[in-house]
Amino acid sequence: MVLDRLRRGSGRRDPKKIPDGLWIKCPSCSETVFKRLVEEQLETCPNCGHHFPMPAPQRIASLIDEGTWQEMDADLTSADPLSFVDRKPYPERVAQMRAKVQLNDALVSGQGLLAGRPIALAVMDFRFIGGSMGSVVGEKIARLIEAAIDQGLPVVIVSTSGGARMMEGIMSLMQMAKTSAALARLAAARLPYISILTNPTMAGVMASYASLGDVIIAEPKALIGFTGPRVIKETIKQELPEGFQTSEFCYEHGQIDLIVSRRELKDELARVLAYLGACKE
Ligand SMILES: [Zn+2]
Repeated sequence: MVLDRLRRGSGRRDPKKIPDGLWIKCPSCSETVFKRLVEEQLETCPNCGHHFPMPAPQRIASLIDEGTWQEMDADLTSADPLSFVDRKPYPERVAQMRAKVQLNDALVSGQGLLAGRPIALAVMDFRFIGGSMGSVVGEKIARLIEAAIDQGLPVVIVSTSGGARMMEGIMSLMQMAKTSAALARLAAARLPYISILTNPTMAGVMASYASLGDVIIAEPKALIGFTGPRVIKETIKQELPEGFQTSEFCYEHGQIDLIVSRRELKDELARVLAYLGACKE
């Protein structure tokens, strides 16, 4: 009630009057919602359920049992094989991202318990150069899968990415083959891989490990695809169907298995892992 009164105030709707960091406007329902409530509901809108972007550390905390997370390869950082410069040199861009996001690259990997079951988990972070996949992301995924094979663990990867990282050129594209080959070895060891697609999962990531899950789960209304809809439309010169490249469209057309709200994701993952009977007791 207090919140309602505060929100109504004197009828002011000027977003400039909203104190910084306390309220956010939901892009889906346009309600101004209390940021703490959004955080409590795992970065979803308490009014309409819209899924906001979720940084990797919060995602891990939302899935892994408290006190059981052991990160792997946290110190891996990118080289600059192409001496790439766009608006700034690539090493400078990476250094700025590391300082800003407090991560060394766009993916965090490790092991922990999910509802008491040991899993190998990798989580991408869109804040770090658009969650782009360079050599560090690919290497961390490959190492995680190899550790999972050694220890007989299922693998879960939560993706969010604009695709391969342009600044590492062909080195980024090679990660598609490397991660796919590692997943083939996981499959040969008869260990399951569950891929979680979150908004957005695109391009080289979608065209490699993100679409190779034994079970593929997406969050609601995520953008999922290879090339963006505008480029496709211009290339094939045809109108695209309604809802093209959303979780719901992919589900209806058999590309993904489940759409699960983030609030239910941990329970659903526990159920799927139990069903697959893949966890060490
Ligand atoms: Zn909303």
